[in-house]
Amino acid sequence: MEDRTKRKVGLVSLGCSKNLVDSEVMLGQLSLGGYEIIDGLADADVIVVNTCAFIGPAKEESIETILDMVRFKAEGQCSSLIVTGCMAQRYSRELIEEIPEIDAVLGVNQYPQIAGLLNDLQGDTPQVRDIRRIPLPTDFSYPRIIKTPAHSVYLKIAEGCDRRCTFCIIPAIRGKQASRTIDSLVNEARGLVAQGALELNLISQDTTWYGKDLETPASLPQLLRALNEVDGLRWIRPLYNHPVRFTDEIVEAIAELEHVCNYIDMPLQHISDRMLKSMNRETTRKNIESLLAKARNTIPNLTFRTTFIVGFPGETDDDFEQLYDFVGESRFDRLGVFQYSPEEHTPAYRYGKPVPEELKQERHDRLMALQRDISLSRNQSIVGKVVDVLVDEAGNDGVPAIGRTEADAPEVDNEVLLYSDSVQQGQFISVLISDALEYDLVGDVMPHQSHARKSIELSGA
Ligand code: SF4
Repeated sequence: MEDRTKRKVGLVSLGCSKNLVDSEVMLGQLSLGGYEIIDGLADADVIVVNTCAFIGPAKEESIETILDMVRFKAEGQCSSLIVTGCMAQRYSRELIEEIPEIDAVLGVNQYPQIAGLLNDLQGDTPQVRDIRRIPLPTDFSYPRIIKTPAHSVYLKIAEGCDRRCTFCIIPAIRGKQASRTIDSLVNEARGLVAQGALELNLISQDTTWYGKDLETPASLPQLLRALNEVDGLRWIRPLYNHPVRFTDEIVEAIAELEHVCNYIDMPLQHISDRMLKSMNRETTRKNIESLLAKARNTIPNLTFRTTFIVGFPGETDDDFEQLYDFVGESRFDRLGVFQYSPEEHTPAYRYGKPVPEELKQERHDRLMALQRDISLSRNQSIVGKVVDVLVDEAGNDGVPAIGRTEADAPEVDNEVLLYSDSVQQGQFISVLISDALEYDLVGDVMPHQSHARKSIELSGA
């Protein structure tokens, strides 16, 4: 009989950082189970595709990737193809029926069982394993094989979501919010620091609402205070905050705690009250404006990142102009714009008055053009200042090293380009900003290095 525990496994992780953490846990479980984890896919005996199904293009990418992997099964070494993640949860039967080369699909909360699934996999009958959303334990701590640079790591603080935004399929796929306990998160944070983590990026669907579902309820400020005490952590960055119930206590914790970045990531999605209501965002323009003012008045040198959706069903010229003016007046530090994508089984899917694709594109382009100017002028305002930078990638032979300031989350925000061969990945350095581009900065490494400060100076924009 084949020795399954010596098999090589390759994994493709699609979608968001939350999916990436699930992939890292699966790799940890597979490694513990005796499987060999490899980077290339051509030599893999087992290929796992961890899919995304958030919006139409993500689903298309998931299907294309699975079909690419089918080719490895036909022509290469691969004998088992496993599909996991949101698409597996949502379309398990269809996947098995339409793509018979798939050997098994695993539901969203069953990713820690991947090694057991592979051990059990026998014969030619495809398996669908535990597609029900059986809750994960609240105090779990599964070992992970980290796929981001060791110094900047994601920490998933909760699964699922209790909100019901009408455009979003996530609650239907991932279920209600299920937070992890503060103790289990602090333990994991300590372990990550021991492996070299300096920056923790806290992720969930609705980070603002962290802990409310626990048997002994907890809160985001409590979690931030506990993580702030973990020795060795320099930056703690809570991402994906919902505006509803973003309390004064949260704002004050961000302002006060030494290692919590003066940074808020809060998708606002729209500003027209009509659209906010139709999206079921449970808030209003007035509430958003007062939250923004409170945050900016309380948190020194705050960086505020947001995203908006254009082309939601029924969005009129007037709704869009309200949004356009709001973006111009509010001058967000970081901004992303998405075009609405209709998703089956969401309330908005059945709404009438779709916005034509060309108009969605035009609205997207107008907002992004406005933001380009705002971003450039904000970046120009820090030219000549000295800031602390965390180096993500070392440079060499004319290729610049790449770093980030406290004002920049990984993957989505500005980078600082450093023409220096002497800086190392994971190093904190002082940098004199010498030039500004629309979405990046250029800097010179200062000869005398300092410790990271609480925040950089971003005044004047
Ligand atoms: S807050 Fe809204 S958009 Fe975000 S995951 Fe929950 S339902 Fe979806």
